Amino acid sequence: MARNAVQFQKGLSEPAFERQYGTEEQCRAAVVASRWPDGFVCPACDGREHSVVKTRGLFQCTACRRQTSPIAGTIFASTKLPLRTWFRAMYHMTQTKQGISSIELGRRLGVTQTTAWKVKHKLKQVMLERDASKQLTGRVEIDDAYLGGERSGGKRGRGAAGKTPFVAAVETTPDGKPVSIKLRRVSGFSGQALSAFAKRCLGPSCTVVSDGLRCFASVADAGCSHQMIKTGGGPAAARKPAFKWVNTALGNIKASIAATYRAINSKHVPRYLAEFEYRFNRRYDLAAILPRLCWASVRTTPMPYRLLKLAEVYA
Ligand SMILES: [Zn+2]
Repeated sequence: MARNAVQFQKGLSEPAFERQYGTEEQCRAAVVASRWPDGFVCPACDGREHSVVKTRGLFQCTACRRQTSPIAGTIFASTKLPLRTWFRAMYHMTQTKQGISSIELGRRLGVTQTTAWKVKHKLKQVMLERDASKQLTGRVEIDDAYLGGERSGGKRGRGAAGKTPFVAAVETTPDGKPVSIKLRRVSGFSGQALSAFAKRCLGPSCTVVSDGLRCFASVADAGCSHQMIKTGGGPAAARKPAFKWVNTALGNIKASIAATYRAINSKHVPRYLAEFEYRFNRRYDLAAILPRLCWASVRTTPMPYRLLKLAEVYA
């Protein structure tokens, strides 16, 4: 049997990572190149002529004299950590299929767990905002699921206390190969919640395949057509070929969250889902995920720790 091309791709090896992002200068150059791919542009006056204040690493606009830090206005803004540490975090978060806990990340980076948590959640926020406005098209498998609550927290036992409901939708090719995924927390499995989900996440061309849960009919509100396949629930449901990919993805999410995290606060669930979604949707080119995440990071507004911690995240 042919080896799975996604699972066996090379990705970015640790030595290759060290060669490309091993020094502070290299990381800084990567941030500058991502932020200003065609050369420096002054955020105040759009001027291009500039000099660099060597001691502080600031870009000074020749026209208006304003000094700009390459990390100002980005997710890295006012960080006390070297960019090298951020890039190492990006490496661990993008090259491992399972994700990484903040305790483990802290150990690897040589920082406290709290610092690792901050870095990780800022990067997750980047992932969340990056994919927020993209919609699925074509054939879509959809299912309901829960995170948290009891450890084994499976799909059934709908509405159990302490669990966070979310929707998983996988776009496939017409012959059923997975293309990309959407994972979104919902207030519950009501018609209203699913209608809102569909309008945000599904293009009107979608043909949505679901099991018998009534709320999924509301995808029609977004102009999607809907095909209901009764599964009867239980283990037999997971084997239905119509739901192969959404079930596979849900199995992977639950396994990786159970293996990596002890508990997830409901208000942060969207960021965990976003991280999984981000990796899944870029799984064909593992090595490119890191530069793409850097590109998105310099285009994401800074988020202070206080807000990050308090924020009720909406995706
Ligand atoms: Zn200027």
